[in-house]
Parts: sequence; structure tokens; C-alpha cells
Amino acid sequence: MTELLPRVGQGVDVHPVEPGRDCWVAGLLWPGVDGCAGHSDGDVASHALCDALLSAAGLGDLGAVFGTDDDRWAGAHGVDFLAEVRDRVAAAGFRIGNATVQVIGNAPRIGKRREEAQQVLSEAIGAPVSVSGTTSDGLGLTGRGEGIAAVATALVFPTA
Ligand code: MG
Repeated sequence: MTELLPRVGQGVDVHPVEPGRDCWVAGLLWPGVDGCAGHSDGDVASHALCDALLSAAGLGDLGAVFGTDDDRWAGAHGVDFLAEVRDRVAAAGFRIGNATVQVIGNAPRIGKRREEAQQVLSEAIGAPVSVSGTTSDGLGLTGRGEGIAAVATALVFPTA
């Protein structure tokens, strides 16, 4: 007999900053901030959350689900990925408990729009998402402003 225990998952994402590109992070557009290069909108927070949810449900990773050779996802927004992942997690027999994501970088400053980001991401997955931000104190690729990173954790429960 399999016990219906909760399962955690973890996700990490990093993208290079591309000067002049729209900045999409945590499901929001951040005017005046340089965004991230990528096949999609480069939203590291949404991507890390997707990976956390997929790993919690044992469904692999973002690259396997949304291949960069698949034109359906070219320019896709993070919330579109999250909605697809939410459906796959449900189809695999899990309900999402909650998720957290922390954005690491000099910009955008998450604290200014935390509530808004949490609302957008929570709506996308149908469960509470906590959003936080930090810097790497000038160290490494995020500290030099060359990239933005995100780390996420998700909890899911088997439904049967
Ligand atoms: Mg990514």
C-alpha cells in the first residue's frame, strides 16, 4: 500500500540579462528594468516554480515539457507555462499545497510589488505562492547584473 504522503520539489533557473529586453519576472512586466534573454519571456521565477512543481509530481523538468525546439512556446509567458504545469500535475494525480519562489538579482526589486506577484502566480497554479527577493551582495553573475536567478520549492499532495 502506498501512503498518501506530501511530496516536495525544487527548481532553479538562471537567465542572462539582455539590455533593452522587456523584463518579465514573477508573472509581472517591470518597466524600466532590463529583462532576460530566452526562448520564452525569460521569467526565471515562473520557470523555477514550474520545475519545482514538476519535480514534486515526478514529471521531470521544464526542458522536457517545453522544449526550446517547440515553436508553440516561443515567447510564451511564465504564467502560460505555470497553467500548463498545473494541469499536468493535476492529471498526474496531485493537488498543489503551496509554493515559494525567491528571486536573486539587483533588479527588479521584488518587495515593491510582492503582493501583485503573489496574486498573479497563485492564480496561475491555483494554490498560494509566496514571492521573495534577495541580492548576492555584488558577487557573481547576479551581483554584476549579468543575470537574474530564482529558486523555488513546491509541495504537492497525492489525490488518490
Ligand atoms: Mg528559464
